[in-house]
Amino acid sequence: MLSNRELFLMNTAQTSNSPRLVEVEKAEGIYLYGPQGQQYMDLVSGFNVSNIGHRHPKVLEAIRQQLDKYLHVTVYGEFVQAPQVQFATDLLAVLPPSFESVYLTNSGAEAVEGSMKIAKRFTGRRQIIAAKKAYHGSTQGALSLIGNEEYQTAYAPLLPEIDFITFNNLSDLSAITDKTAAVILEAIQGEAGVRVPEVAYMQAVRKRCNETGTLLIFDEIQTGFGRTGKLFAFEHFGIVPDILMLAKGIGGGMPLGAFVAPKQIMDVIKDNPMLGHITTFGGHPVSCAAAKASLQVIKDERLIEQVEEKALLFRQLLQHPKIKEIRGLGLMMCLQLENFDQVYQVSKYCAEHGVMIDWYLHCETALRVAPPLTITTDQIREACTIIRAGVEKYT
Ligand code: PLP
Repeated sequence: MLSNRELFLMNTAQTSNSPRLVEVEKAEGIYLYGPQGQQYMDLVSGFNVSNIGHRHPKVLEAIRQQLDKYLHVTVYGEFVQAPQVQFATDLLAVLPPSFESVYLTNSGAEAVEGSMKIAKRFTGRRQIIAAKKAYHGSTQGALSLIGNEEYQTAYAPLLPEIDFITFNNLSDLSAITDKTAAVILEAIQGEAGVRVPEVAYMQAVRKRCNETGTLLIFDEIQTGFGRTGKLFAFEHFGIVPDILMLAKGIGGGMPLGAFVAPKQIMDVIKDNPMLGHITTFGGHPVSCAAAKASLQVIKDERLIEQVEEKALLFRQLLQHPKIKEIRGLGLMMCLQLENFDQVYQVSKYCAEHGVMIDWYLHCETALRVAPPLTITTDQIREACTIIRAGVEKYT
């Protein structure tokens, strides 16, 4: 009989020639477990999803309760489904009052697609500006915003009338004009290797968008739900975007995304033509029940209040002459090494010693460290000892 690993390689689509091939039997808290009893600390959080750890008991309980009621009942936006309504209400309650309406999706990329559509329709403009080295997802619209020629050429033609500015570069902001429907930015560029912009830059973007009547859309798909030490990263910059895109950590481990906007902007999808943006599974009731519980856990366990202290401990323990820089905000971190070989060898060493770390799409020279916010200080010490040993050995 073929093993699951062999079947994986044979029967499921391969997205690279070098998959990690770590087999997961179970996951709990910050740990992943393999079939032979291997134990790994998950310092990637399933790519910024498991902010409250894997299988949080409150999330499991909310899922069980919803399983006893209903699963899918109809397409999004028709029936009144309590888990959707209640989660949307809780989400709006933790956002500034300009956010009035939540559209629930299956994924981050779909939140991006919907946001681009409402921005173009609301403003009546066609141009969208994104940042070089951005990552907003893999669907054709989201990929059009990637600002990376290799991917854009490979899948051309992508969407027209998209222009790029350099992230965190003030002089590029003059490219935003009264022809620009929207500027779409990650609050912190993740896949570019965790690039945290200046507060003054984000405030200047906001100002320029106000001057030109352009909508400012923030992608908080990686940065949301406490990851950076605030519930949402825009809070660090003292500005509020017009549209907020969410996914990943939103669902407590269940698939869910959202875009949130003022009602006036969201309402453009209602008519002329009606059903301007629809989805079958978006806002799945089980995912929404999990998301509501997850948001409550973030609040009840005061996870955000602990982020800064935990991040500081990581930064202290990871001081090493071969780690050239530790970039990031809160528990969204990146360790800058010299080349991809070092990144590959160190992350392989860490996995062999029970710590899962990874790298970034547009920055092959940096290690990704983004643990669940629930990680304890003892676990941080244990993980950092292993990472330092890997760096010592392979740099
Ligand atoms: N935006 C950002 C910043 C992301 O990191 C991702 C996924 O990694 C996406 C959008 C796309 O989300 P999804 O993979 O759920 O479509």
